[in-house]
Amino acid sequence: MSTIASHLDAVLSRIAQATADAARPAGSVQLLAVSKTFGPDAVREAIAAGQRAFGENYVQEALDKIAALAGETVDGKPLEWHFIGPLQSNKTRPVAEHFAWVHSVDRLKIAERLSAQRPAGMPPLQVCLQVNISGEATKSGVLPAEVPGTARAIAALPNLTLRGLMAIPEPEDDPVRQRAPLRAMRELFDALRADGLALDTLSMGMSGDLEAAIAEGATMVRIGTAIFGARDYGSHA
Ligand SMILES: *Cc1c(COP(=O)(O)O)cnc(C)c1O
Repeated sequence: MSTIASHLDAVLSRIAQATADAARPAGSVQLLAVSKTFGPDAVREAIAAGQRAFGENYVQEALDKIAALAGETVDGKPLEWHFIGPLQSNKTRPVAEHFAWVHSVDRLKIAERLSAQRPAGMPPLQVCLQVNISGEATKSGVLPAEVPGTARAIAALPNLTLRGLMAIPEPEDDPVRQRAPLRAMRELFDALRADGLALDTLSMGMSGDLEAAIAEGATMVRIGTAIFGARDYGSHA
């Protein structure tokens, strides 16, 4: 087994264990493999091990990788690319044209551009609204108080499907202290659903907090380091 295949196996075991520990149904948490800074060969190893959904942060790097891996399939289906990085309004067009999902929609203007630029004939772009759940001044995402209004406005756009919420909580090593922002996300998510929005995705949990995220209700975890190893940011530093 390649190193990436065995790491992927270990991550899937962690997800299965955390899902069972939370008394949630098996298979209710999806794995997004975050391949940023890693080349097509690393992604091919993950594909060979059965992984189909990949997350990317940098537009140009992602476009190159998507082109290099065009034609790759898992179980006869094409790869599914998720944009998860900060998105400037002048970079929305290639994202609207080449991705299946965007997790990092952090203002209405970005959502409006993505909807307008989604090519006719492609399925709606699947999006999550990013929430600044730790209230950090430097983090992107809408503040919790702005979530209901922004979510409603995004849900009304024609070429997007609002699937749920995404967060990157402030890094925290202590598993108990990891829980508070993750729980706050779950409460926001539940409130939107109770209010009638048809959402099914809570995108939270990374290599260091996936157990806490699953305990608090994550439906999609975004895992990079635990699958591909430590990143060398090079030109992205
Ligand atoms: C890089 C990144 C991840 C993956 O983080 P790891 O700690 O390497 O698992 C997840 N989500 C986002 C938004 C990221 O930028």
